[in-house]
This record gives sequence, structure tokens and C-alpha cells, in this order.
Amino acid sequence: MAKVLIAAEHLGGTLNPATAKCVSAAQALKPESIDIVVLAADPAGVAAEAAQIAGVAKVLTVANPANAYPIAQVLAPQIAALTGGYTHVFGPSTTFGKDLMPCVAALLGVNQVSDLMAVEGPHTFKRPIYAGNAIVTVEAPAGQAVVATVRIASWPEAPRGGSAAVEAASVDVALPTHTRFVGLAAGKSDRPDLQSARRVVSGGRGVGSEENFKVIYALADKLGAAVGASRAAVDAGYVPNELQVGQTGKIIAPELYVAVGISGAIQHLTGIKDAGTIVAINKDADAPIFEIADIGLVGDLFQVLPELEKALG
Ligand code: FAD
Repeated sequence: MAKVLIAAEHLGGTLNPATAKCVSAAQALKPESIDIVVLAADPAGVAAEAAQIAGVAKVLTVANPANAYPIAQVLAPQIAALTGGYTHVFGPSTTFGKDLMPCVAALLGVNQVSDLMAVEGPHTFKRPIYAGNAIVTVEAPAGQAVVATVRIASWPEAPRGGSAAVEAASVDVALPTHTRFVGLAAGKSDRPDLQSARRVVSGGRGVGSEENFKVIYALADKLGAAVGASRAAVDAGYVPNELQVGQTGKIIAPELYVAVGISGAIQHLTGIKDAGTIVAINKDADAPIFEIADIGLVGDLFQVLPELEKALG
């Protein structure tokens, strides 16, 4: 029977919801046990959060000042050293997991299964290809650990309510010095995180400028939503790259997605395939976004958005 180890993603002492989504994917294996490993300088707080995820048997902690920052090359050998006895090693298909898990797979000498979106059997999984336009069934070889990233837009968060044991693990591996933390340059925002937000308002090239993007922020504030953007809006410098939604941006699954001045190119739609209700506001009635939108409003965004904002009170 499967025994699953999940690499916890966390930042600033808080567990990322992607970890609870990995637990849901692990549960689809009907495993004997699911454990989570938390690597940090001081893992206690994050481990306590992870222990509350229902279905988790044990939370392993690896406390090391070297783990203060999520550097894949430093974390991977420690995770690889802990995988003995596990049949599956999962991490989220976020920037963190996409960086880390290939290193873990390489150290274990196996190929990685990427973007796992459905479990068909202990070694058989479904994953999207061609920007989500086709779903392929892949089979990992039996008799070796399955290292996989989990497509978080495809899985719900496993509920809280668990009380897993927390156990300090000792890992005796040499950590590489060729990759080290130099500094972190991150945008500061009080808004909800784009990747995990329940509501997202995105703007496209139609918004026209960085200055005009304030109408998107204003609507997002009214809705308590995160802000996203199309690649055209990012490339034009209206917003920073971290807001890009789509094939080469973030894959998200909010309950509500409002696309404003976005035409609906396939590379953008790939990022919102699993969104709940999609609302499109576009002045071109023939824009492809209307083919997939649940609610469409044909109109000039500079007229519609202030009206919508007013109506929201
Ligand atoms: P446009 O296609 O120019 O659409 C602008 C829309 O705004 C139009 O429909 C127009 O009618 C509407 N509009 C204009 N003015 C107004 C107004 N006043 N009121 C209302 N509506 C208005 N794109 C992504 O978004 N994410 C990705 O991750 C991504 N990855 C890519 C990867 C590859 C390999 C390639 C080749 C492309 C990728 N793209 C991606 C780019 C994608 O193909 C499109 O070019 C891009 O999504 C278009 O952005 P847009 O809809 O904002 O702009």
C-alpha cells in the first residue's frame, strides 16, 4: 500500500494552502499513511498547522538555519534522505514545488510526474499537456518511488480537524554550498494571494495603462479579490509579472474570475480552466472570452467598472 511523503510549502511561518491540496491528491491513492515534512529554521509553527490537516498521520520536522529560505538545492537532499519507506513523494505544482521536486527526483534517480490532476492507480495518473488542451494518462514505473508535483487547481484543500503527531527528524546529509541565499526581492501587497484567492479580478491589454489599472484594483478591493492580468498587460508594463495568469503565468482556480479587457487567448484560458464562475467584460461582442464566460457583459470597461463598483456599494 502507498505511503506518501509531502513536502510542505510555507513562507513567513505560515503554511501555504497548496500543501492541503497535495494531501487531497495523496488521499486519492487510498494510502496506508500520509506524512508531511516541514523544513525550516524553526518549523514548530508550520508543523502545528500541518498537523491539523485531516488525514495526515505524522508531521516530520527538520530544523536547520540553512532551511530559512526555500532553496531547492538545499532542501532536496534532506527530503531525498527521508524518502526511505515511502512509495510516493509529492509537492505542489507551484513555483516552490516546480523548483524543488525535480531536484528530489534527480537525487532519487527517478523521473518526475508533473502536474498530477487525477489518480487512476498507484502508478497511473492524469496530467494536462499542450497548455491544458489535452489530458494524458501517464504511468510511472512500479518498484521505485513516484516523485510528483500536484496541480493545485485540480484538488480541493483537505479539511482541517486532524491531530497528527509532530516528530523531529534527523537528517545527516552534506548540504551543497554552490547555491546560497543572497537576497529576496518581493513585491509587498496587502491583497489576497493570487494563487489561492477565492475571487480574482484580472485586467488585460484593454485596460490601456498602468495608471488605468486603478479601476481593476478598485473593483478587486470592493470584491475582496486578488488582482491578476493577461500576459499582454504584463508585457506592456501595466502590472508586475507575478500577476500574470495563464500558461506561462499562474494556473488558478478561484470561485469567481472577472476578466476585464481580456480577449480570451487559449494561453490565458489555460490558467483559469478550473475557475468557478467566469465573468467577462469586453467591448468586442465577438471576443473569444465570451465563449467560455458564464456571465458576459459587452461594454466599455471604463464605463462599466465604475458603475459596477457603485452598485456594489
Ligand atoms: P488582447 O488580445 O489584445 O485583448 C484585449 C481585449 O481588450 C480585446 O478583446 C478588446 O476588445 C478589449 N478591450 C479593449 N479596450 C476595451 C475597453 N475600453 N473596454 C472593454 N474591453 C476592451 N497570455 C496570457 O494572458 N497568459 C499567459 O500565460 C500567456 N502565455 C503565453 C505563452 C505563449 C507560448 C504564447 C505564444 C502566448 C502566451 N500568452 C499568454 C499571450 C496570449 O496569446 C495573448 O496574446 C494574450 O493573452 C492577450 O492578452 P489580452 O487579452 O490582454 O490582449
